[in-house]
Parts: sequence; structure tokens; C-alpha cells
Amino acid sequence: MALLEVEDLEVYYDSEDGPVKAVDGVSFQIEAGETVGIVGESGCGKSTLAKALIGILPKNGYINGGKILFKGEDLTDMPEKRRRALRWDEISLIAQSAMNALDPVYTIREQILEAIDAHYPKMGRSEAQDIIDESFDLVGLDRDRQTDYPHQFSGGMRQRAMIAMSLVLEPSLILADEPTTALDVIMQDQILKRINGIQQESDTAMMVITHDVAVVAETCDRVVVMYAGELAEEGPSEFIFGEPYHPYTLGLKSAFPDIRRSEQDLVSIGGHPPDLSNPPSGCRFAERCPLATEVCREESPPAVEHGELRSFCHHTDRIDAELRSVASKAR
Ligand code: ATP
Ligand code: MG
Repeated sequence: MALLEVEDLEVYYDSEDGPVKAVDGVSFQIEAGETVGIVGESGCGKSTLAKALIGILPKNGYINGGKILFKGEDLTDMPEKRRRALRWDEISLIAQSAMNALDPVYTIREQILEAIDAHYPKMGRSEAQDIIDESFDLVGLDRDRQTDYPHQFSGGMRQRAMIAMSLVLEPSLILADEPTTALDVIMQDQILKRINGIQQESDTAMMVITHDVAVVAETCDRVVVMYAGELAEEGPSEFIFGEPYHPYTLGLKSAFPDIRRSEQDLVSIGGHPPDLSNPPSGCRFAERCPLATEVCREESPPAVEHGELRSFCHHTDRIDAELRSVASKAR
């Protein structure tokens, strides 16, 4: 049994134009100790997926269908109390806006202690203090700064504190949503490597959401490529970055190392993702795809397997001849 099994998950948002289908029929698994990267353009549903997994969707967001099995328990129909007990302890989130998630009126140490207390009310102070010390060491924060308030920390330090907090209870799964600022992106790399280090000792799994594909290539065992709320392709990093079978993945590849900065590099796949409140039938990528034909506009793509790669495309057999050679020349 995988640590996490996401099955046909649908996460929608209510809006005036009808439901926004931000995650629409997504399935994948994460094994214990594994690091899985989630990539795809802005708005494709990455944060929505993470929020649904940890149960912090905004008011207008809801799970429309599917399952999220964590150690065999379905998170989608679990009582809120049980779910809250799993948060931090079993699944923790390093949020996209992690820097703002600290409470300004308590010191960092008080906040971490509170998280420990909530889950291990019987733990003694000195044991708790040891854990906090260790977690500060781990993220490279000076132990002396534990009694600081969040405003005394720089943005980067706050983020490290959040990460320390998310590691303190040794969760089985860490969800890391990408930092937004350039400064944090540099730090993200260091911190992911640190987390990678402890993962090996503790069998912690991690799901990393990032625009920085270089980071994914370096730190992730497997990669899930999302497009417009759906899976485009999924498989081991070396194949996703080496020989993908989905034209979208290939397009992303030519936008390496940073998808966000290189809109001009994405000319190979010009255009924009579809409106998620009214997505096209058939393949959602068809409108932008150099390989698209009639069938793509009419029928949802099947999952095609090439070794360990799963590619949702009608034309994986044409990618070699028509696209890969062109893409490698362009690089
Ligand atoms: P980014 O890379 O920019 O962080 P993302 O992949 O994390 O993007 P999401 O934030 O998950 O994307 O958004 C997915 C889709 O859901 C987008 O179309 C977005 O506009 C929409 N969306 C997100 N939050 C809400 C909300 N609260 N209400 C309605 N629509 C929303
Ligand atoms: Mg996001």
C-alpha cells in the first residue's frame, strides 16, 4: 500500500460562472520516503491539490469526487477532528505564503511548543525543547533566536521557522508549496536538500510544488506534470526530464530552468491554458498542441504507458519523429 493514494480526485471552487474545475480527475501515488514533484503552469491546480490533501480549502472550495487515501484511510470523508489530528503530526504543509503563517504575538519558540503540546500533551518540557533545538539546527537557524518574535526575523528566516515547525512532529508526508519570492527560491534549493537529507533517515515522503524545474530534477524521485487541472504525464524524474512522451512536458522542458521567467521560451507551446470553469471536451491541451488532430478535440486522452511513464496523450507514438528531435535542436 502506498503512503498516499489519490484516486480520481476532483476539487472545484464555486464561482459566478459555475464551478471552477481546478483539479479534475487526478490520480497518483506517493510511497513512503519518496519525493514527488508537481509541476505545471500557473493556475493548473497545484496549490488546490495540496490544500485538498491537507484539508484547508477556502470556503468556496470543495471535493467534488474521488478519494485521498492516506495510510489506507480516506481523508475526504474523515471527521474534522481526526483530520486535524493528522495535520502536522502525519501530514504537514509548508505553504506558498509560509512567511505570513506565523502568529505575530507569540515568539517562535512558543508557537512550536504549542504545536508539540497539541499533539503530544504528555511530552515533558525538556524533551520538547530538545526537539525544537534539533529542528532549528536542521533548517540552519541559530538556537538563540527561538525567543524572537516573527517580526524580528527576515522573510527567509520566517520561512525556515515554518519549515522547522512542519518538521518538528516528524510527519510521514511533507507538502511543500513553492515559495513565491526570488530570495526564497534560492533558499528553497538549500532547504529541500536539507529535507532530502533527513528523509533518508526517517522515511519521510515529500510532495514538492515548484516552478523551478531544476530543483525538481535534483531533488525528486518522480514528477507529476499537471495541465489545466488534469494530469498530463507522470513518472520517474529521469524520464520526465529525459524522454517525456507528452508534448506539454516537452514544451515545459524547453522553458527550463524557470518556467515562470521564460514566457518567451514557451513559444513552442504558445497560447494560454483554457478557462477551468468551462474546459474544452477532449484533451485540454489540444488547442496549444503541435500534434493535435480531430480525435484530440473530441476524446479525452487515454493513459499510455511507456515503461514507468504514464502519459495522457493520443499521440505519444508521434512525439519522437515530430517533436523530440526539433526540441533537442532548439536547445
Ligand atoms: P500557481 O503556480 O500560480 O501557484 P496553481 O497551480 O497553484 O498556480 P491554483 O492556485 O491551485 O493554481 O489554482 C487553480 C485554479 O483554481 C485557477 O484557475 C485559479 O484561478 C482557481 N482558484 C484558485 N483559488 C480559487 C478560489 N478561492 N475561488 C475560485 N477559483 C480559485
Ligand atoms: Mg500555487
